[in-house]
Amino acid sequence: MATDIGADRSSGDRGLLDSLPCGVISFDDSGRVLYANGTVHTMLGYTAGELEGGHVERLLTIAGRIFYQTHFFPLLRLHGRVREVFLLLRTKSGTELGALANATRTTRDGASVVDCVLVEVHERRKYEEELLRARQSADRANGELQAQARVLQQTLEQLREQAVELEMQAQQLQEQTAELEMQQEALQEVNDQLLSQRDELERARAVANEANQAKSQFLSTMSHELRTPLNAIGGYVQLMEMEVQGPITDDQRQSLDRIARSQRHLLRLVNDILDLARIEAGRVDYRMEAMDVESVVVSVVPMLEPQLAAADLTFEATIAPGLRARGDREKTQQILINLLTNAVKFTPPHGHVSVRAHHDEPAKQLLVDVHDTGIGIPAEQLASVFEPFVRVETGQTHRPEGTGLGLAISRDLARGMGGDLTARSEPGLGSTFTLRLPAA
Ligand code: ADP
Repeated sequence: MATDIGADRSSGDRGLLDSLPCGVISFDDSGRVLYANGTVHTMLGYTAGELEGGHVERLLTIAGRIFYQTHFFPLLRLHGRVREVFLLLRTKSGTELGALANATRTTRDGASVVDCVLVEVHERRKYEEELLRARQSADRANGELQAQARVLQQTLEQLREQAVELEMQAQQLQEQTAELEMQQEALQEVNDQLLSQRDELERARAVANEANQAKSQFLSTMSHELRTPLNAIGGYVQLMEMEVQGPITDDQRQSLDRIARSQRHLLRLVNDILDLARIEAGRVDYRMEAMDVESVVVSVVPMLEPQLAAADLTFEATIAPGLRARGDREKTQQILINLLTNAVKFTPPHGHVSVRAHHDEPAKQLLVDVHDTGIGIPAEQLASVFEPFVRVETGQTHRPEGTGLGLAISRDLARGMGGDLTARSEPGLGSTFTLRLPAA
């Protein structure tokens, strides 16, 4: 049976122990209190002797008991002592009290005894509590930090993924850039080629222009040289026909007539060539003015009347008054005479020739149609009649006189005035030539 620490002491020793400023308590391995000095009793609000025989855990708070069972007593059993351990004590009235404990486990009279010295520490407890609170808040902070770390980790992963994506995009961009650079180089090459071709074309055009000028010059000189003797031939034929140099026989008159026809034909050809050469050389001046279309048409009709009558054709002009076009009056007359002469030439007797003018509002143009009910032009030759020297092969026995230059000259003149000349035709039914001029 274990004896308590003070049990075998003299009453003087006991007085000394009771008056110590620290608590002294002994208990056995089962926790039964063997001795507690007066300071312990006073500290915890017990009367003297009230603690002995009771269980030591009675003096601890619940947290203190858990600590005692899991740490305090196991440490004592293991090392035989504990140093400066903080214990949460419980007073008789139930309040808490912090104490610093130093304890040793020894064997007395063959039994294990724990001697424990308790120093009340109000301040320390406060520190402990603050420490606890600090730890708790540190734990909370740690939890938050861990959560933030997880978020950061996720963000980091997302950023890594984005970085990989960006890397891929950058690579694609690099590839595209390389491709574009190649394309640009190819384009540059094409551009260089085009530029050199343009230079070549420019040179070719200059050469062609020069050749054209030379040709026009040649044609106009030749035409002039040809006209002089042709006029002389015409003059002498007239003199002989008038029998100025003596009488002529009927046979001679017939021959002179043929000479005169050939001379007129040649003269017209030369004049037409001269016209075309001048137009192509850009040496034609256009005196542009606002023209009353009706008056231009009316002015050319008298020149055609003898031919219309000779060919037994009817004629009609339908021009609304007040229609105005911009153009050179003389050149417009020349075109109309040419179109009407053709209409007369290529329309069999009893046919009909008409002129109609109207306004093409959207195109801001005035259209003059010269229509006939003549032999017409096959579709495949319609475009080529505007080429110089082109005459449609009709198979007629009597082919009307002509040079094949009238339509070429007329279209050039129409275009020179900002207009155009086009044709529609139905073989056997007739043709319509349309002169377009800018509306005034
Ligand atoms: P030319 O009348 O002096 O032969 P053009 O250039 O005026 O020359 O006409 C070219 C050709 O177009 C004519 O020879 C003729 O074959 C054809 N042509 C022109 N106008 C008509 C028309 N109104 N009807 C039928 N054929 C036409």
